[in-house]
Amino acid sequence: MMSHVARLTCVCCHAVYPTDGPWTCPACGPDDGVLDVELDLEAVRKTMNRDALAGRVRSHWRYRELLPVDTPHPLPADVGWTPLIDAPRLAKELGVRRVRLKDDGRNPSGSFKDRPSSVAVNHAIERGATTVACASTGNAASSLAGCAAAAGLRCAIFVSQLVPDAKLAQLLAYGACVFKIRGTYADAYDLCTQSCERFGWYNRNAGANPYLVEGKKTGGLEVAEQCAEDPPDWVACSVGDGCSIAAVHKGLAQMREIGLIDWQARVLGVQAAAVSPVLRAFATGKLDRSGKSGTYADSIDVPIPRNWRKAIHAVRASGGDFVAVADEQIMHAVRTTGRLTGVFAEPAAGAAIAGVVEARARGLLGASSDVVIMITGNGLKDVGGAMRAVGEPHEIEPRFEEVVRAVEAGRLDSSSNL
Ligand SMILES: *Cc1c(COP(=O)(O)O)cnc(C)c1O
Ligand SMILES: [Zn+2]
Repeated sequence: MMSHVARLTCVCCHAVYPTDGPWTCPACGPDDGVLDVELDLEAVRKTMNRDALAGRVRSHWRYRELLPVDTPHPLPADVGWTPLIDAPRLAKELGVRRVRLKDDGRNPSGSFKDRPSSVAVNHAIERGATTVACASTGNAASSLAGCAAAAGLRCAIFVSQLVPDAKLAQLLAYGACVFKIRGTYADAYDLCTQSCERFGWYNRNAGANPYLVEGKKTGGLEVAEQCAEDPPDWVACSVGDGCSIAAVHKGLAQMREIGLIDWQARVLGVQAAAVSPVLRAFATGKLDRSGKSGTYADSIDVPIPRNWRKAIHAVRASGGDFVAVADEQIMHAVRTTGRLTGVFAEPAAGAAIAGVVEARARGLLGASSDVVIMITGNGLKDVGGAMRAVGEPHEIEPRFEEVVRAVEAGRLDSSSNL
């Protein structure tokens, strides 16, 4: 089967490029000229319907007509089709009618980024590449390394020194060649770009590669399918570069366009207050490139986002909004969600939950709201970060009276270990 990719359009000047054309718009340059992949949805509609979907694999390859690959080698096989978990006690705590958690921490490498990475690896194989590369402080890199290992490709990763240990351990365990740069993320990005040009490696960087959104949109496709009969009012997602939220919206919108759902949900973009250039661009229409990094939620610590235009278009098209949350709110959300749902969220995923609290406080959401929250990464990704949020164990002498005293003092019922 040939992919249904029809053309690519510049998000800045709207110029149109063929599928074998450039990955960024030459007229707008690499910073502004991000391209959007457009599909022939008429053709997709012919074979993708509810009956067809019912019999398909339980992974994101079930949406093969909507993915930019001709003949998928589903590697790894089990990316996507993550559970949507009803969380009534969390809903009560957040003051809304209903909360469902889309638990993407259950993907093979533990994050939402497995979706674009598995598509990227397939796209690379089709283009004859034998090495894939990316510059990332975390999940994009560890997912790419895992997918490359599953497919038998070589993988080169450029990270800054801020990478949490668990993510670094994953990269090394998957056998990637890891360049830890004594410099900034921008340095890592430039070195990766130069290496891809020189050595012909496949570049998995969300700013340069328009096909990653197509993998990420499967998160939105799944939310649409899983909520088909029971739609949410809002879908909340944390925002760093902006690519993920744009993709979630794109997935929801495409399911509506091909007639698999008949509803729309508003999209809530959540940034960390200390690093919120996309939120500010939503208000002003312009990107301020002077910000610094510095939030506890490392996966959304992106001071110079590349997909900010896609993100603000998506939020606007859905009638949604942006909110910013402080690091303390994120820590609180990680702790509360763990206790009330059994889902352990990494800080960037906790941000999306904190964003719902913030949106409720601001009156964007009300007591009757029904919200899906994208849990984009597993808490085990950043154990150090988690430990700052979750408190301390009760350290006692090995004497039974100490256990009794703690139990009688209500330790098991107190709402916090802090
Ligand atoms: C990458 C990532 C995000 C944000 O996605 P962007 O495309 O950078 O906006 C959110 N949460 C986690 C866990 C991530 O890895
Ligand atoms: Zn352009």
